[in-house]
Amino acid sequence: MANAFFNVPKAINEPVKSYAPGSAERKELQETIATLKNSTVDLPMIIGGKEIRTGKKISMHPPHEIAHVLGSYHQGDANHVSEAIDAAMAARKTWAITPWQDRAAIFLKAAELLAGPYRVKMNAATMLCQSKNAFQAEIDSACEMIDFFRFNVQFMTEIYQEQPISAPGIWNRLEYRPLEGFVFALTPFNFTSIAANLCAAPALMGNVVVWKPSNTQIYSAHVIMELFKEAGLPDGVINIIHVNSSVIADTIFKSPYFSGVHFTGSTSVFNQLWKTIGSNLEIYKGYPRIVGETGGKDFIIAHKSSNPAEVATAIVRGAFEFQGQKCSAASRVYLPSNLADEILDLVKKDVESFKIGSPEDFGNFINAVIDEKSFDKIANYIEYTKSQNDAEFVCGGTYDKSKGYFISPTVVKTTNPLFKTMCEEIFGPFLTVFVYEADKYVETLELLDKSSEYALTGAIFSKDRASINIATQVLENAAGNFYINDKPTGAVVGQQPFGGARASGTNDKAGAAQNLMRWVNSRTIKETFVPPTDYRYPFLG
Ligand code: NAD
Repeated sequence: MANAFFNVPKAINEPVKSYAPGSAERKELQETIATLKNSTVDLPMIIGGKEIRTGKKISMHPPHEIAHVLGSYHQGDANHVSEAIDAAMAARKTWAITPWQDRAAIFLKAAELLAGPYRVKMNAATMLCQSKNAFQAEIDSACEMIDFFRFNVQFMTEIYQEQPISAPGIWNRLEYRPLEGFVFALTPFNFTSIAANLCAAPALMGNVVVWKPSNTQIYSAHVIMELFKEAGLPDGVINIIHVNSSVIADTIFKSPYFSGVHFTGSTSVFNQLWKTIGSNLEIYKGYPRIVGETGGKDFIIAHKSSNPAEVATAIVRGAFEFQGQKCSAASRVYLPSNLADEILDLVKKDVESFKIGSPEDFGNFINAVIDEKSFDKIANYIEYTKSQNDAEFVCGGTYDKSKGYFISPTVVKTTNPLFKTMCEEIFGPFLTVFVYEADKYVETLELLDKSSEYALTGAIFSKDRASINIATQVLENAAGNFYINDKPTGAVVGQQPFGGARASGTNDKAGAAQNLMRWVNSRTIKETFVPPTDYRYPFLG
């Protein structure tokens, strides 16, 4: 009998395992990678719990070893999107009225399964599918995903506890209803945890979901589906489809039941989605929730008082981990003239010590970029830079796609603060540095603020408090996640709610109560215990 106000377990961040030589987790991970590589998968779409195989198979390869086949997935079409919407709407009838403690238990169970028996498979799949080294996979597909599930359950109960006051004789209540239709989750390749969370956050709040993962993340996406099933998520609550982006505008966004999109990806795609949704408003039952976390041109600025070794380490980790394919990765740096040479020497030394290759060799710090399209885009930026006379290479500038999509970590120094690669998102291991006159600090902050359309993450390094305060003020709108003496990557759920503004998204802060609020439609209920029986107010007397 559910007749009490239950407390949920207090959320804590999942500890990160080390995978150091000799550790049990390292051995188990290496064995699992070998097992996955020795078998091939045949991945169906999953609609209403049913496996749908169309026979139109697309093969999947690790980005670092394109000759190897991981298996294939079945490609669907517009009919499958309609079936997924129908399956979601059918599941909604029971899921929307499932008691919150049952929804909480399913996602808490998913967290524990992932902390335990599913951890190794999720990490191995992410390493092979997205070319992440063991540490990058662990902090993403294990720890961050676990944290999303645990913290969101806690935030959900905090939201439900938020209730209005009641005057004598009446009782006011707020209900947090799920949205009236389905939520569309459209997810990026770069974080397995983000893909899971974009589906799980609305589902936790009682919504049903149609999920289209990135084509380059489908392999690990299916481990997420397995995890949800094992945790007890009913069929049809989350439906995974593999379709070309081109069918989405005429299916998802033409459905009267479309009630929200949970997107993470590039700014241009998000802008296009928003326009399509806007032009279809009369079709929908209500105004859809549009939540999107998009691109970035994340910065580090060092003040003349900063410590060169601290700045260099933040640059090296912040720009190059996971090949710079984090939305938060540092990609433009402003160094003061008194320290620039020393910092760049340290950066060059570190970058040239990186080992590059397959994540299956645990000594490799840098792995491949995600696919050929991305490889070619980054290579074009390298060639463009070579053709310009206001930029020079500090290190890197080479690339090779004969075995996998490998780009050498590249640092470019420019004399032009508005050089193309100082302003545009490249999304790869490519960093541009501008050296400013050390006494033109405030002017440089103002320049930084205006150089890019994005405002996701940024960092200031300084030992001088006044300069930190100035940066915090001048750069107020330049980043949704602002770091003082720390690299701009590595936000932790529950500690640094994540998201940016301007062209970086709607800033609904993934892994925070703010995000969950977008997936509910609250209803106010006022109940009067003894209603009046005479319309006349005393003043009429
Ligand atoms: P992407 O925009 O290419 O793709 C995202 C999703 O949209 C994928 O599922 C893709 O198949 C789909 N898609 C692509 N074109 C579409 C179209 N025309 N219509 C409908 N759907 C379409 O992004 P990506 O390459 O997977 O991820 C990298 C981008 O994501 C970068 O810009 C990065 O900054 C951003 N990102 C942002 C955050 C954040 O929190 N702000 C986090 C991670 C990634």
